[in-house]
Amino acid sequence: MASPNFDFLSCKPYNPPSWASHLSPIPSHVFSLGHLPTPIHRWNLPNLPQGTQLWLKRDDLSGMQLSGNKVRKLEFLMADAVAKGADCIITIGGIQSNHCRATAVAAKYLQLDCYLILRTSKLIVDQDPGLTGNLLVERLVGAHVDLVSKEEYAKIGSVTLTNLLKEKLQKEGRRPYVIPVGGSDSLGTWGYIEAIREIELQLQSGTDNLVFDDIVVACGSGGTIAGLSLGSSLSSLKAKVHAFSVCDDPDYFYDFVQGLLDGLHADVSTRDIIDIQNAKGLGYAMNTIEELKFVKEVAAATGVVLDPVYSGKAAYAMLKDMADNPAKWEGRKVLFIHTGGLLGLFDKVDQMTSLVGNWRKMDIDESVLRKDGVGKMF
Ligand SMILES: *Cc1c(COP(=O)(O)O)cnc(C)c1O
Repeated sequence: MASPNFDFLSCKPYNPPSWASHLSPIPSHVFSLGHLPTPIHRWNLPNLPQGTQLWLKRDDLSGMQLSGNKVRKLEFLMADAVAKGADCIITIGGIQSNHCRATAVAAKYLQLDCYLILRTSKLIVDQDPGLTGNLLVERLVGAHVDLVSKEEYAKIGSVTLTNLLKEKLQKEGRRPYVIPVGGSDSLGTWGYIEAIREIELQLQSGTDNLVFDDIVVACGSGGTIAGLSLGSSLSSLKAKVHAFSVCDDPDYFYDFVQGLLDGLHADVSTRDIIDIQNAKGLGYAMNTIEELKFVKEVAAATGVVLDPVYSGKAAYAMLKDMADNPAKWEGRKVLFIHTGGLLGLFDKVDQMTSLVGNWRKMDIDESVLRKDGVGKMF
């Protein structure tokens, strides 16, 4: 009989894949925080080019309150925080940051306090932020929330803001560990290097000799594409990584991700291993009605709920690119990474109301009576 698996929430020594063993620094330990491996399945989106096969990697199923792509980075970042003797975690992001929510949960799993700096509109920066979406989970697990306005954030920057809070907590005798925006530093990059090893193993254990030509994913802070593109180029996968950016311009990300890879002494150029396109649309976390309609149509057609801020915009832009440049995609086997973010959709309910139908008051004739006895509540 197999012995019980009590890996979840345990910390273990880390051994990199052989093809990544020349990178440095190599993390010494890793926490098991995600429900991994996540499934891969066919995804029959409507209007794909001739012969394009689309597959979906379900990193949205990496957990419940810890769901999404950030958990893979946190497996390494949290191990580092614990090794350094931290007693609390500081991180920063937008008001509906999935990364901040995941960090808040991971911190509490490991008995650490969590301090979040969240960016919101200056009109509501001194009001209670409410309990919509990610905020509900963050506040349930007792994260401390500091609000800043978008203007303050742009003026001061995330590094200085987190440092301000760090110094304040240190003066109070605390030992804070700062995780940068999106968990995207060189250490966090290991999360998606490991995801490539996972995909490689999933392909090897299959019987149909499946090979992916392309990997498509949303890009927000850069750590995910850093790990995916480096891992894919070093491993046997060799799939081309296409990133759809939802906030900054491609040039910013080529440079930022280059910094992450240089930090691992990878000796590759991001422009050789990633194709980054702009999918920002109206702006970060802002949606056109067409994008939301697309999220609704994909959900109704395939059962897969995309998030409006990242994977929804990336899939929308991918299909547009497929329609505009069919030759680029025809006959290819494409793996789209669903990076999670379902809770962010709760922030869009007002915009979505007009898109969903299908409800009515149930029509019941007055003569219909209960047949299964009385006195039961249901
Ligand atoms: C953060 C996030 C991304 C982007 O990942 P980065 O590593 O920040 O580029 C994509 N999808 C979701 C749902 C996210 O929360």
